[in-house]
Amino acid sequence: MNCLFCAIAKGEIPATIVGRNDQALAFDDINPQAPTHVLVIPTSHFDNVGELALADPSSLKAIFELADEIAANRQLAGYRTVFNTGAEAGQTVFHAHLHLLGGRALQWPPG
Ligand code: 5GP
Ligand code: ZN
Repeated sequence: MNCLFCAIAKGEIPATIVGRNDQALAFDDINPQAPTHVLVIPTSHFDNVGELALADPSSLKAIFELADEIAANRQLAGYRTVFNTGAEAGQTVFHAHLHLLGGRALQWPPG
């Protein structure tokens, strides 16, 4: 399978790694939308968060543990976590990933 984020997880494609644990990896988004824009992925492949949550809930927990750790270390006053599911929602990489956004005032609702 030709998956960009699997390749990053295996170290085959470079990324700025900002954290990891047993089941999750965090790296900077290549096109950041906020001062902190980190992607947190399961190291195993799942197409989207729904599949991940049903098939491997411990990986989902690991993703949130890593995201919370990064937010705490950066002392973010607030942050947003987003999973886009499906092309209409803006998903462009079909390996589940959490967007961790912070470091500026975030608007609501998102576009
Ligand atoms: P999605 O649109 O699927 O929710 O999010 C995919 C994210 O991956 C986008 O925010 C995009 O900027 C980021 N991205 C795409 N290609 C790369 C890459 O090669 N490296 C990194 N670090 N991020 C990428
Ligand atoms: Zn993958």
